[in-house]
Amino acid sequence: MTRTPVIAGNWKMHLTRRKASALARAVAAHHAGAVHRRCILFPAFVHLDHVRRNIRGSGVVLGAQNCWGKKEGAFTGEISPYMLRDMGVEVVLLGHSERRHILGETDALLTDKLKVALRAKLEVLLCVGETRSEREEGRTLDVVKRQLRILRFVKDHQIPRVGVAYEPVWAIGTGLTATPAQAQEAHAAIRETVARILGDEAAENLPVLYGGSVKPGNAAELLSQPDVDGALVGGASLSIDQFGPILDAAPIA
Ligand code: PEP
Repeated sequence: MTRTPVIAGNWKMHLTRRKASALARAVAAHHAGAVHRRCILFPAFVHLDHVRRNIRGSGVVLGAQNCWGKKEGAFTGEISPYMLRDMGVEVVLLGHSERRHILGETDALLTDKLKVALRAKLEVLLCVGETRSEREEGRTLDVVKRQLRILRFVKDHQIPRVGVAYEPVWAIGTGLTATPAQAQEAHAAIRETVARILGDEAAENLPVLYGGSVKPGNAAELLSQPDVDGALVGGASLSIDQFGPILDAAPIA
């Protein structure tokens, strides 16, 4: 069984509408025609529609960086996964470390978001990862396993719409990268944990992406690890000069 490599760009709270549209066009041109990889872009909410128009027909998939955990209601400032779906979004990122650690998102909140996003027919890319102190205390795998526990709410028919991104917090935006061996160890543990929660077949087919200072110079080696199925890229996704070579590092099966 081969898992199609996924290269995803998380644009966070960056870019103007004009720059987001131009970058989307550049990514679309670079990716168009490639069938051996998936490319997903996660622009800011306000740029989703512009990006959508600029990637049309290229195969680039539209993603959102977050959503709320209810279908609709009095939740000022929040966005329903159903609204995202209606706008053409296919994938939502949940549990990014910036949301867990800066905005205080808990596993309980993420459980609501996961359930509603899947009900809205979105794919969910769940981010997990340990802080520097958790790694130093030898708790990496415990932390990641705990964060994965919310996957027990995924129903059988929803399993093909779930992916995981392993993003060690100490490697995000810091220039520090997990070594390929560290990434492989965590990814293998993620797959084992998912096998226990959702079954062997689900685990075998699960895309597990690595994120944390992925750059053109380290992408190929990370992506060559047997359990690394793709990359979630922050800083280096903001320029086609960097993101293009990372897209090209996706192995051809
Ligand atoms: C991220 O925000 O998901 C990320 C991995 O960022 P960076 O590549 O900048 O470390």
